[in-house]
Amino acid sequence: MKKHEILLRIDLQCGTCGALTHRGETVDSSEKKPKDKPFNPAEGVKFCPCCGAGYERYCMRCHKKADMFFEEYWPEEDECVRTYVPAKRCSSCNAGLEVDHRGKDKPEE
Ligand SMILES: [Zn+2]
Ligand SMILES: [Zn+2]
Repeated sequence: MKKHEILLRIDLQCGTCGALTHRGETVDSSEKKPKDKPFNPAEGVKFCPCCGAGYERYCMRCHKKADMFFEEYWPEEDECVRTYVPAKRCSSCNAGLEVDHRGKDKPEE
């Protein structure tokens, strides 16, 4: 039986300027590895090299770290590209986390 390895490519997208940072490639050779800690996409790369905005966001209301979310896209059957973007809303209390809009409430509606 052919061992099925998936090439996983991780990109981080800045939530402020939209610049993509190539995080690296990892081979996800399925279930065998012990998951000692949850995967942290922003580990080692905490800030956008273009504008300096942080990738990790904390909720100002409940003070929890908001996990980044990702979108997957499969250019090949065994190749996965994941683009992580900073969370726009807190998963606990649903407060908005957009730094740009903080403090200046433009009436948009
Ligand atoms: Zn940026
Ligand atoms: Zn919250």
